[in-house]
Amino acid sequence: MSRSVLVTGGNRGIGLAIARAFADAGDKVAITYRSGEPPEGFLAVKCDITDTEQVEQAYKEIEAEHGPVEVLIANAGVTKDQLLMRMSEEDFTSVLDTNLTGTFRVVKRANRGMLRARKGRVVLISSVVGLYGGPGQANYAASKAGLVGFARSLARELGSRNITFNVVAPGFVDTDMTKVLSDEQREGIVKQVPLGRYAQPEEVAATVRFLASDDASYITGAVIPVDGGLGMGH
Ligand code: NDP
Repeated sequence: MSRSVLVTGGNRGIGLAIARAFADAGDKVAITYRSGEPPEGFLAVKCDITDTEQVEQAYKEIEAEHGPVEVLIANAGVTKDQLLMRMSEEDFTSVLDTNLTGTFRVVKRANRGMLRARKGRVVLISSVVGLYGGPGQANYAASKAGLVGFARSLARELGSRNITFNVVAPGFVDTDMTKVLSDEQREGIVKQVPLGRYAQPEEVAATVRFLASDDASYITGAVIPVDGGLGMGH
């Protein structure tokens, strides 16, 4: 059955791999992008998730083309790494506003249709750093840890409506986000990963698609690591 799927930040990186995985399985996939040319093969809607009006407009466009969103993948996210002493309040609040409050905005709007349909699947993209911590990433880690409490609260609040909320916590993945790291930093990270390498975006996408599938019908409030073993026990 073809479902209406929305992947925020589906224009590149992990989000694009997720969008492709759903499209390959026959779903109707919408993606958000902020600028430039979005990739072909999806319903691309312009949307900055820090802006409630743009979120509302994006949902209206998607609903007109694909119907209410049945599967939401809240993937859009940013980093602004900085040591605490040098981290400005803006560095902190802007990361929270995208990663955590932005996710709140898109989830809240999706929930309207899901409540009406009495079913829905929501997957939030967190990070191993959310529970493991990362020096220079206090803002990012706080936002990603926040997603866990957010998802688990909603899993309890809306479980009786047959809406599941799960979190995927990737480790280090080969995307633009990690391209900024130096070779030295990269080597240091890989040394700590039991599988000894970065993930490819498709390896994250496979887990996301599973959580949105019928096979995951009894899974909610879970945090699934896709991190090569980096965060074991966290
Ligand atoms: P990229 O930097 O490659 O892509 C980030 C995506 O988020 C882009 O599509 C970007 O859109 C979108 N985005 C950022 N800010 C906003 C905003 N305000 N409104 C709408 N869209 C926005 O990152 P990745 O693909 O690597 O990361 C995807 C997710 O996975 C993020 O949440 C990230 O934190 C998480 N993650 C990544 C890991 C990694 O190692 N790469 C590890 C663990 C988690 P645009 O193109 O317009 O900028």
